[in-house]
Amino acid sequence: MNRLHVFVAFGFLAALGACREAEHTQADQREALDDTRNDPIAYASTGFSLAPSEIPASKRDAAIARAQGHIKKNKDKIPNDADHLFEVSDLIVDRSGEEHVRFDRRYKGLRVFGGDLVVHSKADGSFGSESKAYGKTIALDINRPISPDQALANARNAWKGASIQNTRSELLVYARESNDPKLAYEVVIEGSKANEEPSELHAMIDARTGALLNQWEGLQTITGTGKGYYSGTVSIDTILVSGKYQLKDATRGNQATFNMANKTSGSGTLFTDADNIWGNSLLSDTSTLGVDAQYGAAKTWDFYLSKFGRKGLRNDGVGASSRVHYGRSYNNAFWSDSCFCMTYGDGDGKTFSPFVAIDVAGHEMSHGLTAVTAKLVYSGESGGLNEANSDILGTMVEYYANLANDVPDYQIGEKLYKSGTKALRYMYNPSLDGASASCYSANVGSLDVHYSSGVANHFFYLLAEGTNGTNMPVSPTCNSSTLVGIGRDAATAIWYRALTVYMTSSTNYAGARVATLKAAADLYTATSPQYNAVAAAWTAVSVN
Ligand SMILES: [Zn+2]
Repeated sequence: MNRLHVFVAFGFLAALGACREAEHTQADQREALDDTRNDPIAYASTGFSLAPSEIPASKRDAAIARAQGHIKKNKDKIPNDADHLFEVSDLIVDRSGEEHVRFDRRYKGLRVFGGDLVVHSKADGSFGSESKAYGKTIALDINRPISPDQALANARNAWKGASIQNTRSELLVYARESNDPKLAYEVVIEGSKANEEPSELHAMIDARTGALLNQWEGLQTITGTGKGYYSGTVSIDTILVSGKYQLKDATRGNQATFNMANKTSGSGTLFTDADNIWGNSLLSDTSTLGVDAQYGAAKTWDFYLSKFGRKGLRNDGVGASSRVHYGRSYNNAFWSDSCFCMTYGDGDGKTFSPFVAIDVAGHEMSHGLTAVTAKLVYSGESGGLNEANSDILGTMVEYYANLANDVPDYQIGEKLYKSGTKALRYMYNPSLDGASASCYSANVGSLDVHYSSGVANHFFYLLAEGTNGTNMPVSPTCNSSTLVGIGRDAATAIWYRALTVYMTSSTNYAGARVATLKAAADLYTATSPQYNAVAAAWTAVSVN
C-alpha cells in the first residue's frame, strides 16, 4: 500500500531535519506530508540507522573488513583481481545490524570513474547484495596515453565560458554504463560564463583517441535550507563543489558569507556544509548567523533587481560578501567599500543580540549603493542623507523580505535589543530615540550622521505612509500638517531616482528636496499628486 511508503519517506525526511512544508515545492512531497500530519511517527528521534557517533571504531573496522572479504569472495558479482583496490568512502549500520559499506575503486593505481559500489552485509555478517555503478571486468593497458596537454586542448573545444581561471587533469579509468572501460583524462576547466556565473566544466577525454567521451557542469546551484537567528527557516541558494556545499550564491553574483570566528582581521573562512541544511536558529551553531547574513544579502539583491532592474549594488552583476562573528561582543555592523563587504558583530549578549537582522543587512548594503551613485560625503547634512538612505532602503528591503519572524516596520534595528522594547531609530518620529532630529534646523548638520538622518527618515515616512496611515504609527509633523501617504512603491521609486540620478557628494537637505522633486516630476509629472506629496512632506519636516 502506498501509505507505508509515504511513512518511510516522511520518517527519513524528518530524520534529516528537512520536513517543513514550506521547503518542499514538489506537489507529491506536500501531499505526503499532508497525508501523515495526523500520524506522528517516531522514526525522527531514533533514525533507521545508527548515527556515526554510535558506531565504535572496532565495529566500524569489523564491518569494513567483512565487506572487503565479500568483495574478494564474490568476483562473479564484483569483478576484481590483484590490480583492483577498494577504498572505503562511507559506512552505514542499520539498527537491525545490517551494514552498508561504500567503496571507491582504483585500478593499477588509477581512480576508476564509475567504480563506486556499496556492499550490503546481512545482520549475521554474511554477504547480502551489492549496489554498483559498473559491473564489467576491467582489464586495461594504462601505458602510453596521449599527453595531458593534448587532452586539455581537446577539452577546451567543449568549453563555452567567457574566461578561464584554472585547469587541471587526471588520468583515470572511465567505466560507465554498458561501454567497455576506457583509459581517459578528466579535464576540469574553471572559469566564468559571459554573465559572470562561475563555471566548472568537466570533460572526459579518451586517452587513446582524444575523443570527448562525456562532459558536464560540475558547479551546481542548489537551494538549501537555512535556519537563521532572526529569519527563521528560509531558502538559500548555495553551490555544491566537490561534494561540499558552500554558502555562496551563484545566482546572485557569487555573494558569499564568511566566518570571522571572533577575529577582527582577515577575510574569514567561507561557510561550508555537508547536507545543505544550514544553522539551527540558535547561536550554538556558528552557521546560524551566516544564514541571516546570506539571506539578507539575497533579499537585498532581489529588492534592487526587481524594483529597479539593478544587478548588484554596482549594477555589474557582482555580489557583495558578508562576514559574521566579527570580534567578540561587537555591538555593530558595517559596510566597507574596499572589501565590498558587510561585517556583523555578535552583540554583547547583554544589551544587544547579533546584528544580522534584515533591516541592518539592507542598511549596510545600501551604503554600497550610495558609494557608487550619489557618493554622499559622510559628514554634515550629506552624511545625514547618506545614513537616511540606508535606513530608508534598508527598511524597504525589510518590507520586501516580509518575514513572519521579523514583521516589517519603520524602526531600525528593533530586533537587536535583547529587551525587545527598543530600536536604534524610529523613522516615523525620529526624536523618540532621544538624539535624532525629527525636524530640520540650521545646525542639524553638526549632529552625528545617525541623528541628522532623522529629518530625511521622517520625510520618507510621511511621503510613503502619511501622518495617520492605517495600522501604522502616528507621525507628528513639524508644521502640524496632516498628510496622506503615496505608498511605499512610489516613495521608494522617487527616492531611488533622486539618489541615483540627481544627488551628488555635497547634496544637503535643500538639495535633497530639489532632487526628489525632480525625480517625482520625471516619474509622475510636476502636476501629479506624488509631486505635491513630496513637496508637502519636506515642508512638514521644515525643509523648504
Ligand atoms: Zn549606516
